[in-house]
Amino acid sequence: MHCCDICRKYGILSVMLRFFYENFIPSRCFICNEFGEVNHGICSSCMSQIKPISEPVCDVCGRAIGSPGICISCQADPPAFDRLLGAACFEGVLKDVIHSFKYHRKTAFKKVLARILYDSLPKDADIDQITFVPLHWTRLATRGFNQASLIASELGKYMGVRIRFDALKKTRRTDPQVGLNQKQRLKNVRGSFKANGVEGKSVLVVDDVITTGATAKEVARVLKKAGARYVLVAGVGRVVQ
Ligand SMILES: [Zn+2]
Ligand SMILES: [Zn+2]
Repeated sequence: MHCCDICRKYGILSVMLRFFYENFIPSRCFICNEFGEVNHGICSSCMSQIKPISEPVCDVCGRAIGSPGICISCQADPPAFDRLLGAACFEGVLKDVIHSFKYHRKTAFKKVLARILYDSLPKDADIDQITFVPLHWTRLATRGFNQASLIASELGKYMGVRIRFDALKKTRRTDPQVGLNQKQRLKNVRGSFKANGVEGKSVLVVDDVITTGATAKEVARVLKKAGARYVLVAGVGRVVQ
């Protein structure tokens, strides 16, 4: 409904301009800068270069292993999460897309990143709530947005599942994880998250990149402590060693 004739006139004009722009003006890919068939900022040629994680992977930690099942390390020392998965290898085009998304504010990529993640999720996962790895408020203020929350919001639309913006909170600012090994990363994030409102729930936690899984272990630990029944941590990119 429009409040007056001018609103109606310009409302229709903007719809027409958008239709014209989307259908007749060729789009450039944000990654290769070529014109072509571009979907949410990425062309089909760049999209085809995104490499899925090669199977088989461990049913728990999602690392590539020789045969299907649960890896020795998850059997010996079961992590707090029920499942950790990365949708695709964090390299090449996907690395460029996530970098542009995170550091150059190319937020149009959120839809394509959520789609890649959605396609990799187990179809039998019965999820009650979607949330994301939170940033400390000081980092959120500097960056202006949380990349994981944008992907989670889009994923929620694909899955038809409610997104919780307050299920996890980062209570302490931590040093960047870059350059630290898994043990140091675990120590760095230990006790820096808080969870609430997840009792008896099956929770999906979204992140942009899974590196060693240390953050995933810590958020899963606090979610389980707060009563979560099942925790699936999923990242779009996964560093494959
Ligand atoms: Zn391209
Ligand atoms: Zn494992």
